[in-house]
Amino acid sequence: MSALRSTMLAAARSARLERTVTRLPVSRAVVARFVAGTTEQQAVDTARTLLRSGRFVSIDHLGEDTTDLASAQAIVANYRSLITALGSLPHADVTTGAVRPLEVSVKLSALGQALPHDGHAIARDHAHQICAAAEAAGLWVTVDAEDHTTTDSTLSIVRELRAEFPWLGTVLQAYLRRTEEDCRAMAGPGSRIRLCKGAYDEPESVAFRDRAEVDASYLRCLAVLVAGTGYPMIASHDPAVLGAAEVAVQSAQRKTEEYEYQMLFGIRSDEQQRLADAGKHVRVYVPYGDQWYGYFLRRLAERPANLGFFLRALVGG
Ligand code: FAD
Repeated sequence: MSALRSTMLAAARSARLERTVTRLPVSRAVVARFVAGTTEQQAVDTARTLLRSGRFVSIDHLGEDTTDLASAQAIVANYRSLITALGSLPHADVTTGAVRPLEVSVKLSALGQALPHDGHAIARDHAHQICAAAEAAGLWVTVDAEDHTTTDSTLSIVRELRAEFPWLGTVLQAYLRRTEEDCRAMAGPGSRIRLCKGAYDEPESVAFRDRAEVDASYLRCLAVLVAGTGYPMIASHDPAVLGAAEVAVQSAQRKTEEYEYQMLFGIRSDEQQRLADAGKHVRVYVPYGDQWYGYFLRRLAERPANLGFFLRALVGG
């Protein structure tokens, strides 16, 4: 990992920098490239547009590292309201087989996972409420992956909730050394695993830090998921990953509705549309809300060109 990337990822966790950056006059316009808006209505409008274009959607209410119970409860209320609004979109028409075109993505740290007393149980109960609302509205839920200190707690909550909501998905990060083994453990019937490279600054002891090693791990993990009996969700913008994934799913003779591609809102939209037009299932991860800082900084860290775009806007603004 480059020094610049490490610095950006450290900045993503700085409350002081967050206060400064979010006050800059240019921020909102620049952030709009990666975030659908600050309101639920903007998120729902974006979902409607994407569905009409033939793409599926996962909406993320931005927020992470919640430090008090009231804030975690407020986030659950936001999700319930969002799910109700999304449920009223005409998505039943585009359902293919068992695949649900609309989904919400949740971060357990936003739901209280890090609270000092009973954080794990609080996050589990909050996630349960969101799953129950999603089930009633015909939506799916996927639990995002955060830094490695949360992985055991997150996977154990997902395992527990899947007893009641077997469609509940989760994310595995190829940069973690443990992930190939996690893929083996979780590639069974009905599982929905989103495989991504990983977006946090992790120590060498738990993660591959060299780009080539991360890419190689991604392909090994993908092979495990594709050979399994679950539903792999291939989350990447990397042409090399996408090419290898297509070869892997074809040689495993998976049908279109037995896997999907996923990309982030605002990144490689043309490629998203090209894949959808070619008949592939493509889901776009759409974040919205006020708390865009951490998400935005992780996107800047991934691609120096994005950082240049932000700095040019600052100078120009
Ligand atoms: P990278 O290694 O970043 O990029 C490889 C290549 O992709 C680039 O060289 C370029 O050719 C192409 N590319 C990348 N960006 C662009 C661009 N803007 N324009 C044109 N080409 C581009 N991470 C987590 O830690 N937890 C999560 O829960 C999580 N959820 C995710 C959900 C989705 C749907 C996606 C797509 C990603 C998610 N991530 C998550 C982020 C992920 O871990 C990576 O940080 C991020 O996707 C960048 O990795 P990449 O595979 O796209 O390839």
